[in-house]
Amino acid sequence: MARYRGSLCRLCRAEGAKLFLKGDRCYGDKCSFERRGYIPGEHGQIKFRRKASDYGTQLREKQKVKRTFGLLEKSFKGYFEKAERQKGVTGTNLLLLLERRLDNMVYRLGFASSRGEARQLVRHNHFLVNDKKVNIPSYLVKMGDKIQVKEKSRKVATILDAVETVARRGVPEWLDLDKDNYAGVVKALPTREELTMPIQEQLVVEFYSK
Ligand code: SF4
Repeated sequence: MARYRGSLCRLCRAEGAKLFLKGDRCYGDKCSFERRGYIPGEHGQIKFRRKASDYGTQLREKQKVKRTFGLLEKSFKGYFEKAERQKGVTGTNLLLLLERRLDNMVYRLGFASSRGEARQLVRHNHFLVNDKKVNIPSYLVKMGDKIQVKEKSRKVATILDAVETVARRGVPEWLDLDKDNYAGVVKALPTREELTMPIQEQLVVEFYSK
């Protein structure tokens, strides 16, 4: 599958927000968003806050959410269309669908230090869902599902490092982590209030509704 191969920190600086794409580094003083307060590019140090048209603001918010979850346009738009077909508020449906991705759940449970890393680990067959092997990062997890690191994979350095450092960001309330058994259960799907990322999903809805 095609994916973005450029600098991840550059994406944060372009969006004017921390997207937490590089694991533990994002929480320390090496974060380049914290150190370089200007958008990337060769034409000088333009500060993050720019006046933008409505379209520009909606576009930036869409890009921010898409990049946070490491998706390309086609697949992100696919989530939006699915969210639109569901009952309820489209923006909230969209965020919930993204949260339910297996790679996101692996990251949220602290078995990977970023969503990108989680995606790699899932593809490399390190996880079970309800005791069955699943290696599809976009697999949608449901309430009550159990996600577990395979026994053989519990010595993988990337997973061990992530488990060590998860306390820095914490595990959401709606997940139940059993650290000793490298397992987590989705107690409930999160409410909008529990999704604390600074996202204005209504702007994404407006972007696609033009
Ligand atoms: Fe973004 Fe993380 Fe890089 Fe900071 S360290 S700029 S949060 S990817």
